[in-house]
This record gives sequence, C-alpha cells and structure tokens, in this order.
Amino acid sequence: MTKLSHSTREVPVTHKFKLASIEYQPTRTIISVGQHHIGGDELTIIAGPCSVESEEQIHTIAALVAQNGGHILRGGAFKPRTSPYDFQGLGETGLRFLKAAAEKNHLLCISEVMDTQDIDLVEQYVDIFQIGSRNMQNFSLLKRIGQTNKPVMLKRGMAATYTDWLMAAEYILESGNPNVILCERGIRTFETYTRNTLDLAAIPAIHELSHLPIIVDPSHGTGRRSLVPAMAYAAVAAGANGIMVEVHMNPEEALSDGKQTLDPILFEQMIKKINFHLLR
Ligand code: PEP
Ligand code: MN
Repeated sequence: MTKLSHSTREVPVTHKFKLASIEYQPTRTIISVGQHHIGGDELTIIAGPCSVESEEQIHTIAALVAQNGGHILRGGAFKPRTSPYDFQGLGETGLRFLKAAAEKNHLLCISEVMDTQDIDLVEQYVDIFQIGSRNMQNFSLLKRIGQTNKPVMLKRGMAATYTDWLMAAEYILESGNPNVILCERGIRTFETYTRNTLDLAAIPAIHELSHLPIIVDPSHGTGRRSLVPAMAYAAVAAGANGIMVEVHMNPEEALSDGKQTLDPILFEQMIKKINFHLLR
C-alpha cells in the first residue's frame, strides 16, 4: 500500500486511483444539477434519441420524457460513428434544439463532446457533458474537461477494466472537476447476438471501489430494444443511481441506433414498471 499526499491530507491508497476511491472519500458523491441530484437515494432517468435529428423530433421526444417523469434529456449533436459515411450529427444546431426542448419541458440536458476544441461550444448548451466510450482514454479531453465546472458523465470504454475506467475518472477529478458520473454501457465480448455485454457486476463493484455515482445505459449495453427494459430493471435492482435509455417516436426511422431505441409505448411501460417496483 502506498501513501500519496493530496493538499494537506495523507490517505492510504490501495488502488492506482486515489481521488476516485472510496478510501479517499468515504461519503458518496451527490451531484446537484439544477434542482436534481444525481447519486444518493434518487434514481435519475436520462432519456432521449441517440441523435438530435430535427427541432420537431427533439421537442416531441422531450415532451414524452417529461410526461413520464424523466429528469434529463439526452441527444447527440456530435456523433462518434463507426463509419464516416453515417450521420455525424447536427453539431451546434443540434445543441441549440436540444437545450430549447429541454428548457421548454423543464428537463436538464446532456450531450457528448468528442473533441477539446468543441468544449467551450458544448458547455454553452448542456447541463452535463458526456464523454463517450471511444474517448474514455482521450487524456487531453479528460484533462481539459476537468477544468470546466459542469458535471461530466464518463462512459466506460468498450475494452476498459474498472481500474482503467476509474483512472480515466481520476484525470478529470485531478484536473479540478469533482462532479464525475460513471456510465456502464457494456463491453465487447465474444457474444454477437447483443451489441455489447452489459456488465451489471460493475454496479456493486464501482460502489465498492468508488464514491462516484453510476448510471447504466442498457441501450448501448444490449443493442436490442427488446432487451432494454429487463436490463434497466436489473440495473436498478443492482443499485444503479440511474439509467440512460434511447427513445424515439419512430425508432425504425431513427438516423442512428434505431434497433436499440425504445418506442413511446415501451418507454412508458418501462418507466411505470420501474416506479412500481422501485426497490428503495
Ligand atoms: C451515446 O450514448 O450516444 C454513445 C455514442 O454511446 P457510447 O459512447 O457508449 O458508444
Ligand atoms: Mn446511440
């Protein structure tokens, strides 16, 4: 066990990450965004389309999310697509639509920032920054986002261990931003029926290792709409601080990730069931 000193305090550190560790901070981090708290006893519901596609699209979905008691509207404007020929997002226009739709429906909003050069722009529109799976170890991005004062949701890299992930969070914390939310979104395994394998053990494991809140994304975590509700219930039962799901009025016509996107009926049923069975 090594001892590292931070400011005036010395704490024994059993892991490579320190600021993110439960040993360093035994009280759980609760992040206040507007009137909402992420962490603690609240279950945060983040929902919205994979991508912001148009003003009308995001306003309709925002109304649906709000009607069902969601807290945060998601919607990508800068999209990390595997193919350069796929829809890349509306950029700043998308962010503008997202923020307006969220405000109109009394929701907060989150969107991904992919590049250090876009941080100032994205910061003007979102309440929470999202760092995507593919950028979990983009260290310049992590350091620079650590200098902002908006909360950051850090998605787990698709081949990252818990240590890799918490070390990535450590970069943000160490740069001065204490408001980091982790997001489990599935990892690559040999399974191909699902897009990724949602690692539910990550929830209690992260709570054992860290004071940071953890959100679960069963949409990217399964890649299949039919599997999303069950995995959302399982995540809540396992102690997740919230869930993030993709929802669209007409998933078959979505410009990205339609297969894993809930339609309004499935979304409403899922939220009702979560509220009914809420285990805490
Ligand atoms: C997303 O949530 O929009 C996304 C691109 O997810 P991930 O980074 O987990 O692939
Ligand atoms: Mn998506």
